[in-house]
Amino acid sequence: MFDLGILNGKVYITGKFLKANVYIKNGKICDISKSQLEAKKYYDISGKYLLPGFIDPHVHFHLDLGKYISADDFHSGSISGAYGGITTYIDFLDPVRTAEELEKAFEDRLNLAKNSLTDYAFHATIANPTDEPEKILRKARQLGLSSIKLFTTYSSSNRRTYDGYIAELLEKSKQYGVVISIHAENDEIIKKYEKNEIKVKDHSKYRPTITELSEVIKLAEMAEYYNAQLYIVHLTSGKTLDELKKKFKHILGKNVIIESCPHYFYFTDDIYNTEKGYLYTMTPPLRSEEEKELLIKNINYVTTIGTDHCPFNVNEKKKDIVNGMPMGIGGVEFSFVLMYSMFGKKIIDKFTKNIAKYYGLKNKGEILPSYDADLVVFDPYKEWEIKEHHSKSDYIPYKNFRVKGKVLSTISRGRFVVKEGKLNKRIKGSFIKRGEIIW
Ligand SMILES: [Zn+2]
Repeated sequence: MFDLGILNGKVYITGKFLKANVYIKNGKICDISKSQLEAKKYYDISGKYLLPGFIDPHVHFHLDLGKYISADDFHSGSISGAYGGITTYIDFLDPVRTAEELEKAFEDRLNLAKNSLTDYAFHATIANPTDEPEKILRKARQLGLSSIKLFTTYSSSNRRTYDGYIAELLEKSKQYGVVISIHAENDEIIKKYEKNEIKVKDHSKYRPTITELSEVIKLAEMAEYYNAQLYIVHLTSGKTLDELKKKFKHILGKNVIIESCPHYFYFTDDIYNTEKGYLYTMTPPLRSEEEKELLIKNINYVTTIGTDHCPFNVNEKKKDIVNGMPMGIGGVEFSFVLMYSMFGKKIIDKFTKNIAKYYGLKNKGEILPSYDADLVVFDPYKEWEIKEHHSKSDYIPYKNFRVKGKVLSTISRGRFVVKEGKLNKRIKGSFIKRGEIIW
């Protein structure tokens, strides 16, 4: 006997919708069938979509910046995410310089994440490391952190990792089964523009497109040369994407993966000229209307959508200058509906199986027998306005936006986290230890 039967849904299976019932036992998908089989409980979702649980590859819960801590901890972040259909997310460890520090950073973060309602994994983060690359790669793999994030910028706060080191990581990424995830901005060009007081309205002018473009193109060259596994996080610019398409189409999906975030599709840097522009500051910044349109046009070359969820409260962000302002905005609760409203069904894989595949999340991202029963019941036709959220941040960047499609229920390992708007706080997520990743 199955634990739960989800009946009469339009089930998203390997890219197609199939009218079927899905049966769950012990947190796993056991059977997908046209007939009605025996289960302890049934949930009839007639006509609604049944989608794989969404995976957010890029969140910052409880990000401690010293003076500020991001508004959502793992508990509230996982709840807000669950309302948006997110059943698994990947957060980041604090930046480290050695393998020993990495182990400590992992324990600290694991401890903070204990009260997450949904499943989570971590990226290792390095900042100008002193240990040799192989030591870091080995330790990351041993801890189940099969992706290493680094910054090509922020030398002023000693967080930049330099090209020689990056080259060695890329060269060995396949051998160790690790993905190298990079925040790509050209540090030298940023330094050229750096000032002690950059006004909010100038935020994007002081980190112009060329900073991203030049760095990403260089990294793509390196990734091809070394036959590497390179993942570019939070790509902002349609121009960068267009150039990648022209020059590196043959290695996109093979050696290079591009992630972008909903805010780069919805806002432009014009917003920095408005009264509350400070609420929309993040690095890298928003781009021009033209860039945004180019990003939308090239959506097929974006492999994954992450939110870079990192909200703060209004009073913490309310400043005229960006220096010292905590950067980032929220996103987990509305990322899917926003992107679905813009692109429809073709966005689903970018929230599910692509992330599972390129970040090595086994048994996640698809509705198939033996996979984890992480599921989203989605009404594709419901039109509504974003009014409230479950994040602890005190503002919603997308307030009053009209969207199409609504997450009705979210199921994690066979148990409801959210059922028709009602939260079940009694469930607990698990840390997902990742193994070897080979693209
Ligand atoms: Zn980030």
